[in-house]
Order: sequence, then C-alpha cells, then structure tokens
Amino acid sequence: MKNLNKIVERIKEHYPNPKIEIEFKNPFELLVGLVLSARCTDKTTNKITKELFEKYPTPKDMDKAEIEDVNELILSCSMHNTKAKNLKKISKILREKYNCRVPDDFEALVSLPGVADKTANMVLSFGFNIPAVGVDTHVLRVSNRIGISNSKKPKDVENDIKDSVKQDDWIVFYAGLILHGRYICKAKKPLCDECFLKDICPKIGAV
Ligand code: SF4
Repeated sequence: MKNLNKIVERIKEHYPNPKIEIEFKNPFELLVGLVLSARCTDKTTNKITKELFEKYPTPKDMDKAEIEDVNELILSCSMHNTKAKNLKKISKILREKYNCRVPDDFEALVSLPGVADKTANMVLSFGFNIPAVGVDTHVLRVSNRIGISNSKKPKDVENDIKDSVKQDDWIVFYAGLILHGRYICKAKKPLCDECFLKDICPKIGAV
C-alpha cells in the first residue's frame, strides 16, 4: 500500500499514547467495561461501572452477587439482562478456572460468554500490553478509507493490519485509529480538510 509507512508514523505522532475511553484499573474492570460497552456509550459504561465496582470489585464478589442486583446496577445499559447473565457467568468461570484472574490468552478470552474477538484483543492489548489488534467500527472504517484493508469483515481487517504494520506498532496504531475515527475520520462527515493525513490518504469511499 502506497504511503503506509508515512500513515503509520503520523498516526503514532498524533496519538503517541492512545488510551481507550473506558475507565479501568485492572484487566477484570477492563473486561467488564468492554462487555458492558457493546451498543452502549463509553460515558454511560463508565458511569455504570463506577458503582458496579464499588459493590463488586472482583470476580469473586461478582460471582457471589445476586443477578437481580447486577441487573439493577447496569439497567441504563442496552441488553442489560443478557449482559448481567454474562457478567455472572464470566465471574464464575474466572473464579473457578482462573483463580479469579483474567486470562492473558486469546482462546481463553473468546471462550467467555459475551466476549468476541474485538473484546479479547482489547483486553490483551490494553490490559496486558500484549500485541493485538482490536477492530471496532472506527478501526474498520478508517482502515478502509486509508486503504490498509478493503474488507468489511473485522477479522480480515485485523489480519490486514497485522500483515502491514510491524508488531511493535499494532497497539499504538489501532488505538490511534479508534481516536482518529471518533474525532476526525467520522462516519458521516469525515473532516478531511482538517486531517493530518489529507495529503497522503487515498480517502477511499470518504468523498
Ligand atoms: S483524509 Fe479524510 S478519509 Fe483520510 S483519514 Fe483523514 S479524514 Fe479520513
């Protein structure tokens, strides 16, 4: 892909230490936050988890919680019934199988209820600093526009990024794409005129 190295370098330069907007203090909080954030804003998720973790800070605590109480605490989240069930099941598995720790292994993570590839990869990268690529809606859209992938399938986009970007840069690159997609390369009206990639981006499907 033309200009790939320049694009990667500029993304790294503009988002040198990108963080996800879900607040967490440990891998368990990150995992729970990500499960709750599906079809729910990060702002709402952070509001919910503040109270949730005060009451149930560990897998052990959440495993012992009444499901009705967990459901009540996450009521403002979409699909709260399913999410409450999943959080209870996840906590039980973490307690019984992983000594109350979140596993730092992709296959183990995706075997947890409500955890798919994106969440697993985000837990690995932000919870354990293990090189991975999580593809959310922003990463997918920006990857298509800058031309690093022409697929609409998250798994293909993940693999295209992994094939094109060196492993040490996976996390900083995809996390940068999340922020870039959220604030500049927006879904409906990408701000190409203000974008620091405008001179080298092919803008595929953006205009
Ligand atoms: S130039 Fe436009 S299409 Fe390319 S990354 Fe920037 S905002 Fe997105």
